[in-house]
Amino acid sequence: MVVGGGSSRPSATLPRQPQVGLCGQEAVAFALMADNTVDGGSDVRFDVAIVGAGVAGLVAALDLLDLEPALRIAVIDKGEMGSSGSTPLAQGGMAAAVGPDDSPEMHAEDTIRAGDGLCDERAVAVMAVEGPARVDDLIRRGARFDRTADGSLALAREGGQRVARNVRTADASGAEIFRALRVAASGRVTRLQGIACAIATAATGRERGVVAGVWVVLDAVDGSPLGPAQTPGLALVRADAVLLATGGCGGLFAATTNRDGATADGIGLAAGIGAALVDLEFIQFHPTGLKVSEPGSFWRLLLTEALRGAGATLVDATGRRFMPERHPDGELAPRHIVTKGILDQDGGVWLDATALPKATLEQDFPTVAAGVRRHGFDLATEPVPVEPAQHYMIGGVATDLWARTSVPGMYAAGEVAATGVHGANRMAGNSLLQSCVFGHRAASAIRAQLRERAGAAREVGDAPLLDGNHPADGLLRRASLRVAMSAGAGPIRTAAGLLETDRVLDETAAAIGKNPAPTRDSIELHHMVAAGRLFVRSAQLREESRGVHWRGDFPHHDPRWSGVRLRVQGPRTA
Ligand SMILES: Cc1cc2nc3c(=O)[nH]c(=O)nc-3n(C[C@H](O)[C@H](O)[C@H](O)COP(=O)(O)OP(=O)(O)OC[C@H]3O[C@@H](n4cnc5c(N)ncnc54)[C@H](O)[C@@H]3O)c2cc1C
Repeated sequence: MVVGGGSSRPSATLPRQPQVGLCGQEAVAFALMADNTVDGGSDVRFDVAIVGAGVAGLVAALDLLDLEPALRIAVIDKGEMGSSGSTPLAQGGMAAAVGPDDSPEMHAEDTIRAGDGLCDERAVAVMAVEGPARVDDLIRRGARFDRTADGSLALAREGGQRVARNVRTADASGAEIFRALRVAASGRVTRLQGIACAIATAATGRERGVVAGVWVVLDAVDGSPLGPAQTPGLALVRADAVLLATGGCGGLFAATTNRDGATADGIGLAAGIGAALVDLEFIQFHPTGLKVSEPGSFWRLLLTEALRGAGATLVDATGRRFMPERHPDGELAPRHIVTKGILDQDGGVWLDATALPKATLEQDFPTVAAGVRRHGFDLATEPVPVEPAQHYMIGGVATDLWARTSVPGMYAAGEVAATGVHGANRMAGNSLLQSCVFGHRAASAIRAQLRERAGAAREVGDAPLLDGNHPADGLLRRASLRVAMSAGAGPIRTAAGLLETDRVLDETAAAIGKNPAPTRDSIELHHMVAAGRLFVRSAQLREESRGVHWRGDFPHHDPRWSGVRLRVQGPRTA
């Protein structure tokens, strides 16, 4: 088999003995088994390939190793460790019913209330009931959460929660969880740095269409775990099971709390093999991104909802609070309601945290306070300007309660997965939680699959064609697409706006051509266009407003859409 459409690079034979190498910033131990020798690329075999090294991917990897310590697991990750995903950025904490005045039933009720009639109640029950055990897992793995004077977990309250429910580490909860999981995974999984560009499936026999691995364009990195024989470029990572844990889609929007690398790759990968996707019209915009950024940057500093939970208010240009008249929970109303409230104010909106004790700001919100200071503001002494920013992808790859997708052998967990727990609106803290709960469940399901049919020899179909040309103005096109997505498929959509965004998507698609070039920029832009089209199509179809999907031209619930979840399937290209 020729990898990469007949590249002229020399053949690569991979080492058969376990070795230790440096990968990214950490030493990793790895055991590789060469499958065969290929022209112009690497062909390596693992038991499981996990695409994504955020909370979902790492929890699944560690839980799999708890179940089967000898498993060979590859974790594929875009760019330097921690540079692409949202996990290290999470602020307010992880929701779980661990407080004395809380219960899984209350947690489930709050989640369903926020979900605006579209939650899958079985999935919500699983998440709420299993949440406390997943908090214990994180603590067992070394995560240090804030404690009260008596040693119990110090909990924060965020929007939609009737009681304080988030375990947290000040306002850097994600960074602490990420640190603990990284340390726990170090030396136990193989991190491959590169971008997954297609899912590999079996081409022949009874298992035709079953997942057989993932195609990855590997970066050139010093000390790759693939050893000196690795050539950067297209590689086939064979595996009996592939878990998508690729995070969200903020990189498609012009103002976002996500990193640029959040380009909805998981949607592109899943659509490429015809997997079912669901709820794609539901994209959450966080009401309070700081309304300033570095020049040329689309990233917005998130001002966590926990600030409002601690007493900060939202005021208009005259200093008047406007949320209490809009919702009984005032500033802690569900996020889409606060977002709409902010967008309805003509003269801008400010977050006023000046009434909070200075000690609270310093102790509980050091990351946010320092970030705001870098932009020349002081939370303690002045209201700061805010605007809604894309924050979370609610829809994604359709999964069952065990993270199984519609494609045999492919699983999804974390932000890329649509389990149905969020309904039409995600409640604060539930994202880290659902990543842990369904990452854990993915591990159980993958283990069960491996026990049933591990190591099946599968003839893999042709390598993806990476012979396209990335246009010289690719960066500009990417930026224009982001602006168009925010304008037409942002917090408020209309038929005309969506049509215009669709036009820009078509224009971008025509400019980039059918096949990507073998570079990260090019592959990302292809994924962005594929995902953007599905987001827009879903938003066009749902002619009503529900949860975070706000149609300016259909501003009310339509009972005909009650309980209806839109399921789309990408055209199979692999
Ligand atoms: C600023 C901010 C604050 C937040 N605060 C909270 C909070 O307080 N509580 C809460 O519950 N949630 C919060 N969230 C949401 C939550 O952090 C994320 O939903 C969650 O961390 C997602 O985890 P994940 O493992 O699914 O993906 P991520 O952590 O986003 O990781 C995705 C991984 O996939 C990799 N990847 C993607 N595409 C490819 C590809 N093609 N090839 C190879 N690798 C790929 C990336 O490199 C990365 O490693 C916040 C989000 C943001 C942005």
